[in-house]
Amino acid sequence: MSGPLDDLPTDREGARDLDAADPLSELRERFYVPDGERYMDGNSLGLASTDAEAALDRAVAQWKEQAIRGWTDAEPDWFHYGERLGDRLAPLVGAKESEVVVGNSTTVNIHTLIGSMLDACDGETVLVNDLDFPTDHYAIAAQLRQRGLDPDEHLVAVESGDGRTVTTDEVAAALESHDVDIVFMPTVLYRSGQLLDVEGIAELAHDHGALAGFDAAHSVGVVPHEFDENEVDFAVWCSYKYLNAGPGAVAGLYVNERHFDADPALAGWWGHDKATQFEMAHEFTPAEDAGRWQIGTIPVLSAAPLDGALDVTHDAGIEALREKSLALTDYLIHLADERLTDCGYEVGTPRDPDRRGGHVAIEHPEAYRISQVLKDRGVVVDYRPPNVVRVAPSPYYVGFETVWTVVEDLRDIAENEVFERYERESGGVT
Ligand SMILES: *Cc1c(COP(=O)(O)O)cnc(C)c1O
Repeated sequence: MSGPLDDLPTDREGARDLDAADPLSELRERFYVPDGERYMDGNSLGLASTDAEAALDRAVAQWKEQAIRGWTDAEPDWFHYGERLGDRLAPLVGAKESEVVVGNSTTVNIHTLIGSMLDACDGETVLVNDLDFPTDHYAIAAQLRQRGLDPDEHLVAVESGDGRTVTTDEVAAALESHDVDIVFMPTVLYRSGQLLDVEGIAELAHDHGALAGFDAAHSVGVVPHEFDENEVDFAVWCSYKYLNAGPGAVAGLYVNERHFDADPALAGWWGHDKATQFEMAHEFTPAEDAGRWQIGTIPVLSAAPLDGALDVTHDAGIEALREKSLALTDYLIHLADERLTDCGYEVGTPRDPDRRGGHVAIEHPEAYRISQVLKDRGVVVDYRPPNVVRVAPSPYYVGFETVWTVVEDLRDIAENEVFERYERESGGVT
């Protein structure tokens, strides 16, 4: 479906034809799409599905019926819930089952993995970039400070040349000019939607004697990864974005098996070897695999929806989801070129499909007020300062005709200056 952009239709009929030819169009029926809404925000919070709901209902029923026995007798048992969900996630990131576990939040996983890897390699300096999601920098700076290292010196940020993307060459230049121990980059930049070259960056990091870690919050569930093949050292991600596991759902992490002997920086009993955890020894014997980076008891009710949501992902297949996602973003970019550029819009996302995640950044100087109008029209998007409307056509539940109507709304709002009726951004909470 993702042929040359010029071959794509620009009329509503054409959009309907694309929907009719879409092998995943029926997936949408498994989701609760809010009434009357065109939901383009699945990269912030994925939608509920009947599958996720059923898995949660089952966990609640087992809590009622089995109470504490649920830890061993529930189906699936709660004691190994994080490991089991890790096994189910492993194929989505190209990992062995032992290398993936579900636990904690993404921010907490950044803390424990950055801390663990700094200790394991006796490292002092972490390379990030100036377009990162802020929590990553907060967590890494805190881990550096706890080791007596000043973040002003030891947290080095690659400067983006164009304010939208981070090139592999820019990462290479930073590695040439700084003595870096860990390169920690996003797979997909949260604002522009650029997909970074995971394999190339991991190779560069290793060539410079550094480890390579990735924050895959904006890609797992929509972009397949090959973390083992790409020799990635470690990675973290959320379950509530493209994976559709619900608000604050428990997160995932990957640690390559060559680091299974690293000591968890934030140790806790849930990372203990499962076979002897309940002997309650004061000496910590960590699990022999990625399970050691769990910390406390798995929040079963925040993990259960992921179990159901993963049924949807696996039924569709991650390769098919990626193919549809690229067809949707190709189409969106094509329509933006045809219908939006004369109204002051620009596409801020790379046009090369290999460099694009699941969403498209539509830039406009009036992005804030345009987002407000869209909201009133039932189009749910994110505004990201200063000038980005993030449009995420999730392949799980968004079709081509919906994309077409959103572009027509964007055109109408700018062409007819509908946004003029709205207040400017106040500078406070947006
Ligand atoms: C969404 C997101 C997070 C969120 O972290 P939480 O701990 O779940 O709040 C972290 N990093 C990136 C890059 C994100 O996009």
